[in-house]
Amino acid sequence: MSTTPHLYGSHSPVSHPTVRLLIQGEFVDSRSTELHPVVNPATQEVLAQVPMATPDEVDAAVAAARQAFVTWKATPLAVRMRIMLRFQALLREHLGRIAHVLTLEQGKTLADAEGDIVRGLEVVEHACAVGTLQLGEFAENVANGVDTCTLRQPIGVCAGITPFNFPAMIPLWMFPMAIVCGNTFVLKPSEQDPMSTMELVDLAMQAGVPAGVLNVVHGGKDVVDALCTHPDIVAVSFVGSTAVGTHVYDLASQHGKRAQSMMGAKNHAVILPDAHPVQSLNALVGAAFGAAGQRCMATSVAVFVGAARDWLPEVVKRAQALKVNAGTEPGTDVGPVISPRAKARIEALIASGVAEGAELLLDGRGVQVAGYPQGNFVGPTVLAGVQPHMQVYAQEIFGPVLVCMAVDTLDEAIALVNANPFGNGVGLFTQSGAAARKFQSEIDVGQVGINVPIPVPVPFFSFTGSRGSKLGDLGPYGKQAVQFYTQTKTVTTRWFDDASVNTGVNTTISL
Ligand code: NAD
Repeated sequence: MSTTPHLYGSHSPVSHPTVRLLIQGEFVDSRSTELHPVVNPATQEVLAQVPMATPDEVDAAVAAARQAFVTWKATPLAVRMRIMLRFQALLREHLGRIAHVLTLEQGKTLADAEGDIVRGLEVVEHACAVGTLQLGEFAENVANGVDTCTLRQPIGVCAGITPFNFPAMIPLWMFPMAIVCGNTFVLKPSEQDPMSTMELVDLAMQAGVPAGVLNVVHGGKDVVDALCTHPDIVAVSFVGSTAVGTHVYDLASQHGKRAQSMMGAKNHAVILPDAHPVQSLNALVGAAFGAAGQRCMATSVAVFVGAARDWLPEVVKRAQALKVNAGTEPGTDVGPVISPRAKARIEALIASGVAEGAELLLDGRGVQVAGYPQGNFVGPTVLAGVQPHMQVYAQEIFGPVLVCMAVDTLDEAIALVNANPFGNGVGLFTQSGAAARKFQSEIDVGQVGINVPIPVPVPFFSFTGSRGSKLGDLGPYGKQAVQFYTQTKTVTTRWFDDASVNTGVNTTISL
């Protein structure tokens, strides 16, 4: 594995490399005695240990960020922009190497790991446009001789807490936008796969991010809670599960911080009988089983409308043809899930679906992968005849399991999706413009794809999950991230010349 040596120390008596913290521009060993193994999900090989940072280390990271804010907020836009330009170039240069680390610790295929980095890289490219993104507004002569302008100013020390499923893209949703707007940052990556995140952070430092502007602490609940309650942190960005995201949002808000939580999902694809069959079925199967179903925007529910239900055997045929293997093996479609615990949970949910009366058309439990007997593999699984009360519909499975339902009309499909508590993503497959227009208008989900299975917006827009998938009004990246990471100040100005001087005192509220 081609990792960067200075990102690791040793932690006697454990022989595995120990992932370092980043505090005040230095990659440093944690003094923590609590270590969590980073495990290759295809082999169970321990790749590294990650320390759960101590309260003093969290304080040191926040103090470094607080101190750096004083000079960083006054650093010209063009200087910040040039650092992002260098950062995006370095990410491109090291793409293949970091993707390899990402696949080893996370499990997804090498091609998908590159996609994980590239989708984050696009945010860095967008951050290079900070000069126009952070512009204020100006209105001349709002009253006689009075002008008003807005300034978009950085807010201070921001924190980011990220999940295991996109260890590159999601940290890159957060810290580049936060720091390019003039803030400083403390990142808490997922303890399950922090190594590729550290590689990105290292490149950001090489690109010229000054000491203290970007800091990293590792840990779990204790470290997250410390960040959410720390008096010197002004904003918290979270991406992860609904239970933790709700806790983070509540705790950070109660402590007076801005908060945004992007959380769990149950994404439906609605297939109308007039949809292009090949295109739609391929898109559906790719979106359901890609990344072993561990994408927050994975299609986990297929809703077949009317005669489209006859396509179910074709879904099964395509799902059956997918190759389950380690992400590093050429030709792999579906890699392992993140942990033995995740695998056991997914398999238990499949069993619950069968027990509750769903029809198991394809069973991925017990799949054997030659050469990887210890891997956390679950093969593509298709459950049909699923009803809303079943656990496989009520819960986010977060594995390669497609839950299939059938309704008679588009109206019924819309009602079904709108009754689900989550609102992250939804897809419609059709060749009818009228049906598409009705769907996009009436569906109550934040991100809609029309013949696009995973409608994650590019960074000129923002990630706009809604309802149970999100807390806080502003989403990651794009214009909404600039709003989240800045505060608006309005300045109202009047200059006097001799002709405009007031001769008396005015006690009314007019300008
Ligand atoms: P998770 O909620 O378990 O972990 C996310 C982060 O929270 C990690 O950094 C973890 O260390 C920390 N954490 C875990 N338990 C905690 C606790 N009790 N208190 C405080 N912090 C805690 O999520 P995960 O399993 O890493 O990621 C998968 C989940 O993330 C899925 O639900 C998926 O839908 C969601 N997700 C959502 C989006 C989105 O944009 N909506 C994107 C990616 C992932």
